[in-house]
Amino acid sequence: MTSTSPRTVLITGAARGIGQATALRFAASGCRLALCDLQAEWLEETATLAREAGGRVECYGVDVSDLSAVQQTVDQIVQDFGRIDVLVNNAGITRDGLLARMSEDDWDAVLSVNLKGAFNCSKTVGRVMMKQRGGAMVNVASIIGLIGNPGQVNYAASKGGLIALTKSVARELAGRNVRANAVAPGFIKTKMTDGLAEEVQAAMLANIPMKRFGEPEDVANVIHFLAGDEAAYVTGQVLTICGGMVT
Ligand code: NAD
Repeated sequence: MTSTSPRTVLITGAARGIGQATALRFAASGCRLALCDLQAEWLEETATLAREAGGRVECYGVDVSDLSAVQQTVDQIVQDFGRIDVLVNNAGITRDGLLARMSEDDWDAVLSVNLKGAFNCSKTVGRVMMKQRGGAMVNVASIIGLIGNPGQVNYAASKGGLIALTKSVARELAGRNVRANAVAPGFIKTKMTDGLAEEVQAAMLANIPMKRFGEPEDVANVIHFLAGDEAAYVTGQVLTICGGMVT
């Protein structure tokens, strides 16, 4: 790849929210996109918007928690595009509940998607990037993985684990010119947060020094920066995007 060739960017959970905004940010800078979500059809809106920027966009239906499905998808993407320059591990879910009442299923589901899903994608795409001797991964964690939250032990553990995974991957792959960083968003306006009760949202707003919730684009811009050459000497780091909630 020459420095002028467009980068190929794989984004998981790209159908909506932060994943969709991230896809559109990379499309705007001329990248080629391999969009992934549970079902390929869900990606049509993102793909249509991204294609307006003119670059190549392909959609793949894959459950990130299924290693063999991820391997097949990554093989297909390499066949379609020839390489993968950027991986954004964004797919994530919540299954909130207090510790004493949290079911084993809710624990397993969240850890499977948020943490094992990132492991599956990092392992399979990591091999491709190591062969290329270059690449960048950005993992979408959360401030909850740094500070914890009542009612979210599963989510907090998955995001804290994702931060630890990021730091280890960064150390392992640095010698092959593959970087790995994480972002830790605070409260971002998406379908994931839409469902929270108004009083919960009001209580959160009161704790945000910038006095506003984040937009998906606030996160997408930082992911784009960490994946790009301007962050060429940054690896193993966690950048919070939370209007000053965590300092
Ligand atoms: P969202 O629910 O709007 O989007 C998540 C996407 O992931 C969906 O398109 C969903 O279909 C996809 N997905 C879920 N399970 C999947 C699986 N097994 N395989 C493939 N795709 C799957 O959520 P969002 O708010 O855009 O969140 C995106 C990421 O940002 C998540 O990892 C989330 O934990 C993180 N995050 C969100 C916030 C926030 O306030 N919204 C804050 C911190 C971190």
